[in-house]
Amino acid sequence: MANGPISQREQLSGCRRIVIKVGTRLITDGATGLNTGFLDSLARQMSQLREQNHEFIIVTSGSIFLGRRILALDRHEDTLPLRQAAAATGQPALMRHWSEALRHRGLICAQILLTQDDVSDRRRYLNVRNTIEALLRRRVIPIINENDSVSTEGITFDENDKLAALVASTIQADLAIYLSDQQGLFTANPLVDPDAKLVSQVRPEEDYSACAEGAGGPESKGGMSAKLVAATTLADCGIPVVMAHGRTEHVVTRLIAGENLGTFFVPRPPLQARKLWIATAATPVGHLVVDDGARRALLRPDGASLLPIGITEIRGRFLAGDLVRILGPEGTEVARGLSNYASDEVERIRGAHTSQIADLLGHVAHHEVVHRDNMVLAEQLNGR
Ligand code: GLU
Repeated sequence: MANGPISQREQLSGCRRIVIKVGTRLITDGATGLNTGFLDSLARQMSQLREQNHEFIIVTSGSIFLGRRILALDRHEDTLPLRQAAAATGQPALMRHWSEALRHRGLICAQILLTQDDVSDRRRYLNVRNTIEALLRRRVIPIINENDSVSTEGITFDENDKLAALVASTIQADLAIYLSDQQGLFTANPLVDPDAKLVSQVRPEEDYSACAEGAGGPESKGGMSAKLVAATTLADCGIPVVMAHGRTEHVVTRLIAGENLGTFFVPRPPLQARKLWIATAATPVGHLVVDDGARRALLRPDGASLLPIGITEIRGRFLAGDLVRILGPEGTEVARGLSNYASDEVERIRGAHTSQIADLLGHVAHHEVVHRDNMVLAEQLNGR
């Protein structure tokens, strides 16, 4: 038997905490509006798998689609306020369908609506995490969507693929399953290229972005490119991901049993919780440009912290504890991390030896400007 993908997939049965992302086109149905068969099949699988100690968190789309139908909006009525009105109208309907399907299988669910800001801010991020933990401990299935009716451009997740990745990293999921109306990632767009082949596994060093063109649809904003970014982000942070067709019979049960369905993203070694937040959820507010010596020290396998001596320039204003990008001399991102000092303090100590910090600032909060424990290298950020 082949090793690698199969053996890694076989380990999926050990995954306890599982995030399932469900796309709009799976839960909706052109004729009746809602695909209750799909919801029931997923509810049945989750109720069975829960007996084997798996726990589930659902990230669902569909509120805008359902709301547009309820409000009888036509194709041309597509402004941001109308989308938000549709989301506000469709969300209760979406939840009603989920809770009915789950209740029928003896499961209780809860609704959480999130915006990007809710997880970029560390305190709110910890709150979200605690709420989800509390629900899971009480065997409740959290059903999460973007809070579309209050999101505005700039704070929107853009699509639930990214939201699902943020949720998976926030709660340190053991597995994220992206269910859609696609079998997985193909070597080309299968709708237009008859030679397109399903990719059964993606390793961290492989780049399939050129293969992910197209494959979205009018009701879903994500498409394959967004899914691929989300999946590689998670795999780079150590969370395995599978993309599969949601209407494949018993898809979740079969995936967890290690069956070779869809596309499996092989994870890198896992990041600790705080690094996971830096890599996926937090938003950088400033830049530190470093010299080549500092850049090489950060990239060394034993990984150094960033000291004042290597910093040549400060861009933007930030406070101690804020997330900053660390750029090499030529401006490419080397890493991202939490600064121990505010921007005006870094301005005063840049280029100096650690021993001079006390004289320059009147106090020494830390010897490093960014400690290694609070830093993630650019290769784990995946273009975010
Ligand atoms: N949050 C949107 C909705 O529930 C969907 C976004 C997406 O399809 O990714 O309608």
